[in-house]
Amino acid sequence: MKICRTIESLSSALSSVGQQSIGFVPTMGFLHAGHLSLVEKCRQENDLAVVSIYVNPAQFAPNEDLNRYPRDPDRDIALLEKERTDLLFMPDAMEIYPPGYETYIRVEGLEAALCGKSRPRHFRGVATVVLKLFNLVGPQRAYFGQKDAQQAIIILRMVRDLHLPVQVRVLPIVRDSDGLAMSSRNVYLTPVERRAALHLPKALGNAAALIHDGVRDDAAIKKTMADELAKDPLVCIDYIAMVRLQDLADLVAVEPGNTLIAAAVHVGKTRLIDNLLLGDLSC
Ligand code: AMP
Repeated sequence: MKICRTIESLSSALSSVGQQSIGFVPTMGFLHAGHLSLVEKCRQENDLAVVSIYVNPAQFAPNEDLNRYPRDPDRDIALLEKERTDLLFMPDAMEIYPPGYETYIRVEGLEAALCGKSRPRHFRGVATVVLKLFNLVGPQRAYFGQKDAQQAIIILRMVRDLHLPVQVRVLPIVRDSDGLAMSSRNVYLTPVERRAALHLPKALGNAAALIHDGVRDDAAIKKTMADELAKDPLVCIDYIAMVRLQDLADLVAVEPGNTLIAAAVHVGKTRLIDNLLLGDLSC
C-alpha cells in the first residue's frame, strides 16, 4: 500500500492510473469493521481502492472533540494493508486548509435538519472536505455508511447538484455483537455508559417492530423510542425524528420506501447517532 501524506505525492501516485477505475473511501481513521466493510466493497468493485484518513477540523465546532478524537495511524495502516488497499491518503490539516482558506460548500436545507440543529456548521465542513477529496482523488465510485445517513444524503445531493462524475454507494450499518452501531467514538464510553448506549439500537428495534405490526403514525413510533431511551438516566435525547429521505422533512406517517427514522443521544460526554432506513440510499 502506497501512503501519501501530501497532495503532491497523491497526484504523482495517481498520475499512472490510466484507465483503471478508482474507488474511494473517505474516513477520519481509528478504523473499525464498519469502515472496513466499505473498503472491502470498494476493493471488489474497482481496480484501485483509495482510502483517506483525515480528521477534518472544519466539521468540528470549537466545543467538540477535535483534539481528543481517537487516533491510531499505525493500527489503521495495518488494517488497510490487510484489506489490500492500494493507496492511503493521510494529509496534515494544513495541507487541506492552508492559511487564507475561505471556500465552503453548503447543501442548504438538508444541512439544517436532524444533526444540523445541534451541529450547525458540521455538514458544511463535511461537504467541503468530501468535495475537495473527490477533486484530489478523482474516483469513479465513493463509499459511505448508512450509519451517517444524513451525511450520505447530503453527499448524494451535492454530487447531483454539482454534476460530479462519481457514483455514491451507501452501505449498511455494521454493529457490534451487542447491537451498538460501530463508531470510532464508542471508545469514549465507560462500561456503564456502553450498557446505557444499548438503549439506542433497542429503541430503533422497537420502532421497527411497531412498523412491522402495522403502526404508521409518527407520534406512536417516536413515543416507543423515547420510552426506551428514558429507561436509563445516563441517556440524554438530542432528537428522535421520522423524515422523508429526499428532503429530510418531518413525516407524520411512515412512507414506505421513503422514510428515515433517526435518533441522536448523549451518553455522558459522548454523542451517538443511529437510524432505521425504510428505503434505499443510492444514486
Ligand atoms: P468516519 O471515520 O466516522 O468519518 O466514517 C467514515 C465512513 O465510515 C463514513 O461513510 C461512515 O458513515 C462510515 N461508517 C462509520 N461507522 C460505520 C458503521 N458502523 N457501519 C458502516 N459504515 C460506517
